[in-house]
Amino acid sequence: MLSASDVLKILEEIPLWKVVSTLPKRVAELERKIAALEATQTARPSGRTGRECPFCDSQMKVTSEHDDPTFGFAGVKSHIMQCPNCDKMAQRQYDPKKGYVG
Ligand SMILES: [Zn+2]
Repeated sequence: MLSASDVLKILEEIPLWKVVSTLPKRVAELERKIAALEATQTARPSGRTGRECPFCDSQMKVTSEHDDPTFGFAGVKSHIMQCPNCDKMAQRQYDPKKGYVG
């Protein structure tokens, strides 16, 4: 009777099995590449965060968050922000999947 290791030895003689046995490693490698790609795509090309003050371009602080009245059903939030530099307030739509959209 064959043991499991005997079966594996036999399978290693078959070229196709060798290819299949490398798949988990290749899939992991691909997943890593896709994650890296997605990370670069969600980052804004200009490197901006979407929280820039419209008046002085400082990074505003989110002071409150609530569901967007129009797109809240899709998970979109409305952020009220205040600029720490010039104290101006702004409201922007925030999509957790895409970042600031408004
Ligand atoms: Zn400002």
